[in-house]
Order: sequence, then C-alpha cells, then structure tokens
Amino acid sequence: MTCHVVPKERAGVVNPIFTCQPAGAQFASIGVKDCIGIVHGGQGCVMFVRLLISQHLKESFEIASSSLHEDGAVFGALNRVEEAVDVLLSRYPHVKVVPIITTCSTEVIGDDVDGVITKLEEGLLAEKFAGREVHLLAMHQPSFVGSMISGYDLAVRDFVKKFAEKGEPSEKITLITGWVNPGDVKELKHLLKEMEIEANVLFEIESFDSPLLPSKDNVNHGNTTVEDLRNTANAKATFVLNRYEGGKAADFLKKKHKVPSVIGPTPIGIRNTDTFLKQLSDVTGKPIPKKLVHERGVALDAIADISHMFLAEKKVAIYGAPDLVIGLAEFCLDLEMRPKLLLLGDDNSKYVEDPRIKALQENVDHEMEIVTNADFWELEDRIKNKGLELDLILGHSKGRFISIDYGIPMVRVGFPTYDRAGLYRYPVVGYNGAAWLAEQMANTLFQDMENKKNKEWVLNVW
Ligand code: SF4
Repeated sequence: MTCHVVPKERAGVVNPIFTCQPAGAQFASIGVKDCIGIVHGGQGCVMFVRLLISQHLKESFEIASSSLHEDGAVFGALNRVEEAVDVLLSRYPHVKVVPIITTCSTEVIGDDVDGVITKLEEGLLAEKFAGREVHLLAMHQPSFVGSMISGYDLAVRDFVKKFAEKGEPSEKITLITGWVNPGDVKELKHLLKEMEIEANVLFEIESFDSPLLPSKDNVNHGNTTVEDLRNTANAKATFVLNRYEGGKAADFLKKKHKVPSVIGPTPIGIRNTDTFLKQLSDVTGKPIPKKLVHERGVALDAIADISHMFLAEKKVAIYGAPDLVIGLAEFCLDLEMRPKLLLLGDDNSKYVEDPRIKALQENVDHEMEIVTNADFWELEDRIKNKGLELDLILGHSKGRFISIDYGIPMVRVGFPTYDRAGLYRYPVVGYNGAAWLAEQMANTLFQDMENKKNKEWVLNVW
C-alpha cells in the first residue's frame, strides 16, 4: 500500500488549518432567514469569526454577542444571555430564530443555556414579546473539541432537530450543501432546476453574492426559512453533499422521521457529479436532461484540452475541509495528477474509516500521505526538511505564506479565500465547477512557468 493515513505526531499546533467550533455554527446561522445568532462568550468569539466570514464573502451581516466579561467568566453569565435576547428582539422586530451558540469559556463555567431558554420562553417571550413568533435554540459548541467543521455539522443538526416536524409526505428532497460558497449553491440549484427537482436547501446562501441596489440595503442574510427546516421531516430523501458538514442532521432525520439519506459523494469533478445526478435520478425518478449531458460534454472538452498535456503527473498538496480535500484529490487523480499530501485539520477519528479514504488507500499507485489533525507546519516541514517536491498547492488563503516562501504556485479553494477577488462566486461543484477548477489549475501553472522563465512554455503556441 502506498497511501498512508497518519496523525500529526507533535503535541500542540503550529499555524492551524481550521478555526474553532463556534465559527461553524455562526456560518450555518447566517444561512437562515430572519435569524440572528447570539454567541455566548467573549466578544472576540464573534468579532474574529465575523471578520473572517466578511473577508471571505466581502459582505456585511449580523451576528450578536453576549459579551462575556471577567465577572461572568467567574460567576456565570446567564444574565448576559437574558439581556442579549431582550435587546436583540427589541432592536430587530423581524427576527424569529435566535440560536444561542456557546463557546469554550461558557461551556467550561457550565452556564445552563437550555435552562435559561426555558426561563426566557416562560417569561420574556410570553410577556414582553407575546404573540410574536420567536424560536430560541441552544447550540453547544465547546471549542476545546472538534473544529469549525464539526461546529457546522452540529449546528445543522441542531437547526433540523429544533424545527423538523412530521406532516404530509412531500416530493421535495432536502439538500444539505455543507460549508460551500454562494457560487456552489447557485450551481447546485441550477442542476436541480434542470432536473425539475424541488428542494429544501440548507442553507440557501446564494444571496451572499449580493447586488448594490438604490435602496442601499447592504445587510445580507440567508434564505432558508423555518418552513424549509420544518419540511425536512417530510422530504423524499436527505442529500448530504459533505459527509462531515451535514451527516449528523441526515442521521437524525433518518432515525426520528424515517427520511432516507444519501451521503455524498461531494460533487467535485466529472465522476462525482455523475454519481450525484444518478442518485438524484434514482430517488426522484426524474431523468438526467440533455442540457446537463451537454454541460458535461463542455466540461470534458475543456479538461481534455489541458489534462494530459499540462496537468498530468503534477504533484499536489491539498489542505482544508475533509470533504473538499477528498473531493479535490479524487478529481486530481482523474486529471492524471499526483496528490502527494492531504492535510485534514482536526482529530476526527472517523476519517480513517471514510470509504473514500479507504478507496484512495486501495487504488492510488504513487506515494501519498494523508495527515489527520494536521497544521501548516506538517506541510512546511515536509517541503523544507523532508524533500517533498510539489508543483501545486490547493487550499484556502491561510496557507499562502508557504506558497510564497517556497515559490510553489497555489490555487485558492475552500474557506477562507480573502486574498483573491470574487472566488466565492465561482462553483467548484458540478460540471461547471469541474471545468473552472481544472482551468484555474492550468492557468496557475502557466503563470508560474512564465514567472520562472520556462523557455518551453514561453515559446509555446498551444
Ligand atoms: S477558542 Fe474559545 S475563546 Fe477563542 S474564539 Fe473560539 S470559542 Fe472563543
């Protein structure tokens, strides 16, 4: 076997690939309409996360903080939650959904958020806000376990658990996209529309690629409604595109409401998009239309122009969210590239059992390493001290200094990608995503050859 899965051996982290759990819950909460989350912790638990999301999407949106101070950290701070809910509901008359997202400090001091929600429902909501539709829900997000990925997964489950309600069976499916970009949501909706399939989309964040309008309303929000969340219990099936960013919600819907689930694959690349469409067709009985076959052909043609000539044998390192990394590695293999190193940034023990990782272990015919609980030092150390030679790096903006310092070209993909313009608009999923990704990789390699004055390329008339 030439593909090894190894955990990071050092204690501690040097330059983390992920941020902490509550970040995932915050990203999920901005996808729900009429929802503002309250993060129960210090202001930094919101400020830095909100900044990161804003830098990535280049948009403005609302997340609140209970703004815990020293006294709260010692004596408990449930009074801050009570005050925060009151202020939030008073200032924002449209808000219906308020997730209360805990953090490391409030989990350590043991604030009883579930208890305070019951108190608020019986007191504040029943009296001051009587007659108004308001839903409070607790999201326990201790940041000393997991990562932003598990935080997102837990938050999706918590939303579904709170609202899913059995009613009349529906022909709709539920699509849990995972932590993707507005461009991905647009592309996924396009695929569903072409197949004439209706869906509850969790979470509908296409609107975060928003226009500037004469009304000057520049605060964004997602468009998944309470109704969409309720209907997840009645859907024909739950489709989860990213196993680690929605799998828990699908398990809940299956166990509690008997909704069948289809987990993955992440539709990155031609092969995985084919599988996704086939699964949609099998579940709904809807055929794959000619228009999508045509789109597939256009993507294949674009790939054929570059793969064998320019991408084949190129050695790649990929880091970031596990489903994205695995999907990109599968796509790179289809393009005849050589993924040499995959870095998964948390210690989820399930990664080693992932069927896609097992398939890589069985099928890859070159030396490849998959590191779990990885940080950026794992990448840098291999380049600097262990002779790892790379032609390309795929990952988010946080790893750009390794690319800059070692002169290795890089394609930005994942979250966050704040040092390149507009990447949130482009999908990496679907046939359009496959063509775009392959061309991005090729163009990045072309630019690098120019920068390094590669004569063969400079004189090329391809
Ligand atoms: S690690 Fe803890 S204190 Fe730091 S941002 Fe995350 S939740 Fe807040």
